[in-house]
Amino acid sequence: MEPAGFTVVLCRHGATLRAAVDTPFLGLDVGNSRLSAAIVSRDGHLLALARADTPPQARAALDPLVSLAEGTIAEHGTRPAAVGIGFGGPVDLKAGRVRASFLSSGWEGLALGEIVAQRLGLPAFLANDADAGGLAEAMFGAGQGAASMLYVNVGTGIGGAVLLGGRLHTGATSSAGEIGHFVVVPGGPRCECGKRGCAQALSSGTAIARRAGGLLDAGDDRSALRQITRAELSGWDVGRAALQGDVVARRAIDEAAWWLGIAVANAVHLLDPERVVIGGGVAELGEAWLRPVRASYRSHIFGPATDTPIVAAALGYDAGVIGAAALAMSEQGARSAP
Ligand SMILES: [Zn+2]
Repeated sequence: MEPAGFTVVLCRHGATLRAAVDTPFLGLDVGNSRLSAAIVSRDGHLLALARADTPPQARAALDPLVSLAEGTIAEHGTRPAAVGIGFGGPVDLKAGRVRASFLSSGWEGLALGEIVAQRLGLPAFLANDADAGGLAEAMFGAGQGAASMLYVNVGTGIGGAVLLGGRLHTGATSSAGEIGHFVVVPGGPRCECGKRGCAQALSSGTAIARRAGGLLDAGDDRSALRQITRAELSGWDVGRAALQGDVVARRAIDEAAWWLGIAVANAVHLLDPERVVIGGGVAELGEAWLRPVRASYRSHIFGPATDTPIVAAALGYDAGVIGAAALAMSEQGARSAP
């Protein structure tokens, strides 16, 4: 039997530990069109969330990003343990720097991790937004329980993440899992990265809108999409029309899914993950998107991985900001404090 004094010490120590275990994390998601800030509990629940439009230039985005973060911390009333930042473009994870943004200017080389750490006075960790989303799905979403997972995010662009043993495998240059830049059609359409024939140039929401426009230009007039001007036609419009049975939209979706299935099969040949999780705006089409992706995958995969599950992501749009917080959770202690 323990002496009474020992029990008291344990209780005090336990209370301290409980306070530390309950401290939430801050996630920041820097997207091309929206900034998000969220306080996230250690079991992945959103405790507070705020969003704002992303200013078109990096320097003009920093103050709104910090204000959004400070406002969210104040709203929740608890100082987070650390902050994770998901950025919509390639980053240098070890240096906490942005490498490039394909869609907005001024981000190249910006030490975003260090800037946020100093401005908020919190340890900060930076990752690509697809890596953050993949980590969120692995820890709290459709990848839970899988020892290895490939995450693919199909939205305006295509990102990916590789999770091994519940942790991100980011590679030597922080570019592991860039499935959007697998070349599936050598010499094919030009990609935002400057190369040709990448999966992103054939299967992203942007590519789906472009392909539907091309089919309409080629004279296929069996489509309600003709009522939308070409400049305004989006992947979202095409997806919605496909769900309503529009023949042209359905063809654009099926072709995009076919090319993505090739990229996923190539990635699985290399990684042999236990599960493939597909998220992002295009994946919100559900089975109308996943079914042709799986069909293409099975046409291109070799051997036992034929039956590798390809499933829908579970966390929706919030995966990015939850994943940014998850990044801080998994990395805290391994990086420098401000
Ligand atoms: Zn590319």
